[in-house]
Amino acid sequence: MQKLSPLQPLSHPLFDQHNLKVSIKRDDLIHPVISGNKWRKLKYNINHVINNGYKGILSFGGSYSNHIHALAFAGKKYALRTHAIIRGEQTHQGNYTLASAKRWGMELSFVDRKTYQKRSENEYLQLLKERHSELFIVPEGGSNQLALTGVGEVITELDQQCSYDTLITPVGSGGTLAGLINQDDNRHQLLGIAVLKQQNYLVEEVNTLLGNNHDKDNWQILNEFHCGGYAKFSSQDLALVQEFSQLTKVPFEPIYSGKMILALLSLIKRGYFKKNQHIVLLHTGGLQGLVGLKEQGRISEQGWQIPPALEDE
Ligand SMILES: *Cc1c(COP(=O)(O)O)cnc(C)c1O
Repeated sequence: MQKLSPLQPLSHPLFDQHNLKVSIKRDDLIHPVISGNKWRKLKYNINHVINNGYKGILSFGGSYSNHIHALAFAGKKYALRTHAIIRGEQTHQGNYTLASAKRWGMELSFVDRKTYQKRSENEYLQLLKERHSELFIVPEGGSNQLALTGVGEVITELDQQCSYDTLITPVGSGGTLAGLINQDDNRHQLLGIAVLKQQNYLVEEVNTLLGNNHDKDNWQILNEFHCGGYAKFSSQDLALVQEFSQLTKVPFEPIYSGKMILALLSLIKRGYFKKNQHIVLLHTGGLQGLVGLKEQGRISEQGWQIPPALEDE
């Protein structure tokens, strides 16, 4: 894997109009499959598994999960067993995300929504631990303490690459934002863009990951850019993200990074950023999600950089 993910300047008429410099940290280019924040979060989990004699990792996700996709590939790459508890029906096992995961050797267990809701309850986790004692359990999205260390490396890398004022990331479970906050140590403004509707829950989640006595106050989660909820978006939202992709020549998807883009454009228009600021966007990857959106007929083939279909080995 590459040492530093590239930092690229972006040009857009709006940035010039508002005298802003905007760059993007291309974590989507870390690896063709285990890209973005999911690799950052897995890295030290994998070390932990190897150093502590576990045989592999058990984790949780939806049937289009970027985390499950990345974990399955990492399992193959590091010769570790992987087992995923998937929310939903077995009928989804043929979709791109899960078919890839299975091909890379991941074991899948499908559970109903009620069971899936127990994914962070002690009693349920204890049961899974007893049943799979040789596997290390990693929460949904890969967001645990070990993930923070990996995500923190984004900040260490940026310190070597540029000076900047604001760093923006999409927020799903909060693990990525927490890792950035933890390593940044109050030096930059850190903005999280919530991609789902549960605002207060997210702030709590980040605080829990940081440990409750932390002194970090340079961060904020903005809750007005979820476009109606997780994986929801209008055709107008899609058009805006596509247009931005075309102007900047950077691929995005509408579930995570696309919402960060919508937030950026809207914040700039309303004068949120001071003149001459350098804003860095964290590209968290997740482009495999485009295939699922195409399979479901939710996006058209045109105008998106959809990863190629599974090839026969
Ligand atoms: C999972 C994911 C996120 C959200 O990260 P969290 O650490 O869960 O907040 C953002 N972007 C992409 C592409 C993701 O796959």
